[in-house]
Amino acid sequence: MKMDKDLMKKYLNLFGVFLIMIDIFLFVVSLVYKMPLMRYVVYVKFFLNSLNFLFIKKEKFDLAVGIMYTVILAFMVSAIMSLGFDYGFQLYVISMIAVVYYISYLGLRLTGKPSKTLPLTTAIIACFAFCFIWNIVKGPMYEIDESIAYGAYAFNSILVIGIIAIYMKMFLNIVIESEDKLSKLALVDNLTGLYNRHYLLARMESAKDDERDSYRLAIMDIDNFKKVNDIYGHNCGDEVLKTIASKTKEICGDCIVSRWGGEEFIVIGNKDKLNSDMLEKLRKTIAETEINYDDKSLNVTVTIGVADHKISQDIEKWIEDADSNLYKGKNSGKNKVVF
Ligand code: GH3
Ligand code: MG
Ligand code: MG
Repeated sequence: MKMDKDLMKKYLNLFGVFLIMIDIFLFVVSLVYKMPLMRYVVYVKFFLNSLNFLFIKKEKFDLAVGIMYTVILAFMVSAIMSLGFDYGFQLYVISMIAVVYYISYLGLRLTGKPSKTLPLTTAIIACFAFCFIWNIVKGPMYEIDESIAYGAYAFNSILVIGIIAIYMKMFLNIVIESEDKLSKLALVDNLTGLYNRHYLLARMESAKDDERDSYRLAIMDIDNFKKVNDIYGHNCGDEVLKTIASKTKEICGDCIVSRWGGEEFIVIGNKDKLNSDMLEKLRKTIAETEINYDDKSLNVTVTIGVADHKISQDIEKWIEDADSNLYKGKNSGKNKVVF
C-alpha cells in the first residue's frame, strides 16, 4: 500500500502555497493597521514557509510537516494574543485537526507507519487553552477598528470551512477507492479476472425461483492439468488458466462465467443460450487454442459436465448433478461435454 512520493510532494506544496498566500494577506493587514508584532511574526512565518519548499523538494516530509504545524500554531497564538477572539483566528484549530489526521494517514501510506496524532492534538489544545487564559488575564495587545473584526471573522471562517471541506473530500475519495478495491477483491478472482466462487453463490442465492429454473449450469475442468504443471511449471499452468478464462468469456459472454476454484470453472446461463452448440464450440475452441509460454507451445483440453436447474433444487445439489456428469466425462476419455 505504498503511495507515490510525488503525490505527497504535490499535497505539501499546495498547502505551502496556501500558507504563503495567508502570509501575504497578513503582511498587508499588519502594515495597514500598524501592528509591528504581527509583522515580525509574518517575516518569520514567510521565511519558514519558503524554506519548507526546499525540504519538500528534498523529501524531508517529517521536517516539512513539523514546521508547517509549528508555524500555523505560532501564528494562531500570536494573532489571538494581538487581537483576541473576535477575529476568528481560533477557528484554525478546527481545520488543523483535520489536517493532522490526514497527514497521519498519508504517513501510513508512504512509510507504513502513521505519524503520531495524540501529541499534536494535545499541542493544539494546549495552545488554544493558553490563548484563552491570556485573553482573560491580559486581554488583546492591540485595538484596531472593530469593523475589521467582522471582515476578518468572515474571511477566516470561510477559509477554515474550505480547508475542512477539502480534507473531508480527500478522505471520502480514499474511502470510496478502498471500498471499490475491496469489493473487487472479494468478488473477482485475482489470476483470471473472472467472478469467484463467493460471487457465484451469492448471485444464485439472490436469483428469483423462476429465474433460477431457466438456468443451466456447466462445470468445466481442465484435463490432466497436473501434468501441465509438472512438465511446464506452475507459471505456465497459470497462463493456461488465464487463456481458458478469456476464451470462455469470449464464447459465453452472456452467461455468468466464474472460477470455481483451482482448475475448475462454472458457467451459468439461460438454457437456450448455454446450449450444446455453445458448449461444444467452447470445448473445441479450447482444444484448438495453442497456448504459448516462454518458447514453449502447448494445447490442453477440458471436460464439461452440464445440469439444468430443477424446481426448488438447492445450489449444492445442482452443482453435484453437473459434477457427476463431469466425472462421467472424465471416466470415458475426457475432452467432451456431458449432459
Ligand atoms: P483430470 O483430468 O482428472 O482433471 O486430472 P488433473 O490432473 O487435471 O486433476 P487434479 O484435480 O488431480 O489436478 C488439478 C491440479 O491443478 C492440481 C493443482 O496443482 C493444479 N492447480 C490448482 N490451482 C492452480 C493454480 O492456480 N495454478 C496452477 N498452475 N495450478 C493449479
Ligand atoms: Mg479438478
Ligand atoms: Mg483437471
